[in-house]
Amino acid sequence: MSLLVVGSVAFDAIETPFGKTDKILGGAGTFIALTSSYFVRPVNVVSVVGNDFRTADIDMMKSYGIDTTGLQIKADGKTFFWSGKYHNDMNSRDTLITELNVLGDFDPIIPAEYNDCQYLMLGNLSPDVQRLVIERLPNRPKLIAMDTMNFWMDIAMDSLVQTISMVDALIINDGEARQLTGEYALIKAARKILAMGPKTVVIKKGEHGALLFQGEEVFFVPALLLEEVFDPTGAGDTFAGGFMSYIAKTDNPSFENMKQAVIYGSAMASFCVEKFGVEGLLGLEQSQIEERYAAFRKLVAL
Ligand code: AMP
Repeated sequence: MSLLVVGSVAFDAIETPFGKTDKILGGAGTFIALTSSYFVRPVNVVSVVGNDFRTADIDMMKSYGIDTTGLQIKADGKTFFWSGKYHNDMNSRDTLITELNVLGDFDPIIPAEYNDCQYLMLGNLSPDVQRLVIERLPNRPKLIAMDTMNFWMDIAMDSLVQTISMVDALIINDGEARQLTGEYALIKAARKILAMGPKTVVIKKGEHGALLFQGEEVFFVPALLLEEVFDPTGAGDTFAGGFMSYIAKTDNPSFENMKQAVIYGSAMASFCVEKFGVEGLLGLEQSQIEERYAAFRKLVAL
């Protein structure tokens, strides 16, 4: 089933206790689209980059079945740049630099061939842009999910709340859920978010797994105990990509199927953190994904 991904396509510079990178390929849209390519193809993308973006990166995306017709290349601008530094526990980080560049005045033009979109994943990006995409699609998709970040809560809270009210599912991390709602207890935070509009809320807790809420129902999936965690950048986006593309693949947005989807999202995120940037998501075999899925099920089976 057709999946449309909207989100930043970026350059990231990352520092972890294990090393430091120069500008490497990153961005929420990139992580989501690459992950989704293991479940559905083509993956349609709407985003924007600048004149400094590498053709090799676009070619790489295309080789993963990502349709880049909706990826605008601005000849007079620079690609979005983000830099972050992880603390020793790798579960928290500081943003050092956010340069919006071409993302600052991005007009999300949706190619006509994406109009039949059944599943829409709005990755981290300005809430104004996320909302414009919903408004511009001629038919409402079966499921609209969105992710966001503290950055947008700090500078565009009103717009963010408006966009949240228009989606079916919000996927955010625990710190962001607390910032958004002013509630420390995640059950209270989830309830407040559900009251804002979305029928489903997923709260990611980094190395402590993820929680899925719908109505009075709650489902929990832990994270695998990985021996190597090099770089958590993009793990949240990867989770969202796995979650949404599994639902798109199975064409089933029911709560029962979302439980499977959070396991696939977590399995994909476990690959992401094992290497720097998007590297952990490249060249995976379907059998590796199924092995991780089985490892998750075994972890919690009685
Ligand atoms: P995550 O680790 O899943 O929270 O996502 C990290 C990715 O989000 C990086 O690749 C960044 O390029 C991207 N990112 C960071 N800040 C923003 C922002 N304000 N808007 C859009 N994307 C962002």
